Amino acid sequence: METRVDSSSDPVLRREMFDLPDGVIYLDGNSLGPLPRAVPGRLARAVEEEWGRLLIRGWNEGCDGLGWLDLPARVGDRIGALIGAAPGSVMAGDSTTVNVVKTLSAALALQAEVAPARRVVLSDQGNFPTDLYAAQELLAALSRGHVLKVVAPEEVEAAIDETVAVLMLTEVDYRTGRLHDMEALTAKAHRAGALTLWDLAHSAGALPVDLTGAGADFAVGCGYKYLNGGPGAPAFAYAAPRHADRIASAVAGWMGHAAPFAFEPGYRAAPGADRLRVGTPPVLSMIALEAALEVWEGVDMSELRARSLALCDLFVAEVERLSGGEPGLELASPRDGARRGSQISFRHPEGYAVMQALIAEGVVGDFRAPDLMRFGFAPLYVRKADVREAAERLSAILSERRWDRPEFRVRAKVT
Ligand SMILES: *Cc1c(COP(=O)(O)O)cnc(C)c1O
Repeated sequence: METRVDSSSDPVLRREMFDLPDGVIYLDGNSLGPLPRAVPGRLARAVEEEWGRLLIRGWNEGCDGLGWLDLPARVGDRIGALIGAAPGSVMAGDSTTVNVVKTLSAALALQAEVAPARRVVLSDQGNFPTDLYAAQELLAALSRGHVLKVVAPEEVEAAIDETVAVLMLTEVDYRTGRLHDMEALTAKAHRAGALTLWDLAHSAGALPVDLTGAGADFAVGCGYKYLNGGPGAPAFAYAAPRHADRIASAVAGWMGHAAPFAFEPGYRAAPGADRLRVGTPPVLSMIALEAALEVWEGVDMSELRARSLALCDLFVAEVERLSGGEPGLELASPRDGARRGSQISFRHPEGYAVMQALIAEGVVGDFRAPDLMRFGFAPLYVRKADVREAAERLSAILSERRWDRPEFRVRAKVT
């Protein structure tokens, strides 16, 4: 009953477009989105008819005559439509980490022209470690005296000053779901003369993003989380059109050259965001991601947001109603929906074992050290009935200590 009410009254819910296993409540689409039904057939066709029959001609004739070569721009435009980016300003490709190196180096090169004395890349402790690792090692390799300054999330705004070259933040904290105010922080950064680089890994497909409206300079994000592109899907990189023709990235290659098939000895960057391309795109993964993005057809992002907030609020209310007395159980996400993305995290001293017990009982979330149980609520396929059921199973596991078994304490490589 709940399911029918849910889907008929809500144009965002399109669970039938996903191939979700029976009996599983999937609350981990923020780590790996589920399989959209359009993908297997499209992928099989790409393998058998395009790779198998067209062979090398696929570069010009694959994808129903559009060719494989421009997949990064075509897929980039589809992603761009979800994040308020102008056509031609987003390139799909590489991993998020590599895209951090490309865009951060490009931003630093722009600053080197106008404000070479600025040496700080400002980020926060809520940033995903890979972004910080990539920045640290890039700054070391550049050897121009840059420093990475990492402050507490709530201190970011005050730390934006004239020493900052680039403000590099992840909009939605991967652990707690805390949401930065992209527009306000970008405006403050610009007033101070800094450029901005936003990681949208937990934003793209999770909530409305308006890169153009916010005036963001650069952005990166992930294809395999809320965009459902499959394990290891291509990531994406954005450069504001006002910068795109001027940027120079530290990671360059022939696919970002103005004339890749002229095979010139010297690098000449392609016009616009095309220069964010590096090497040969992973065609099969690109095609899977392109097919996966079809599920976004007709989705209104403000309706998506409303549904996300309703699901998250319901989960918090149900967990607190059923398990409020559980010692050590504590909401780690902002209670105010306006301050968080589309995930809810709870702390528990035995969080790892509790999550393994939950997974064993068909509720799939994940765990982030040291004590966070993380639940992602993807509005396209999670139903209110799933949220209630997940809270009930969590409550039973906690009250009956069903997590307290040796097998639930064995740490897997991926948590
Ligand atoms: C998931 C995630 C990444 C992952 O980067 P990859 O290079 O694709 O492995 C990067 N940044 C953030 C904020 C993430 O959440």
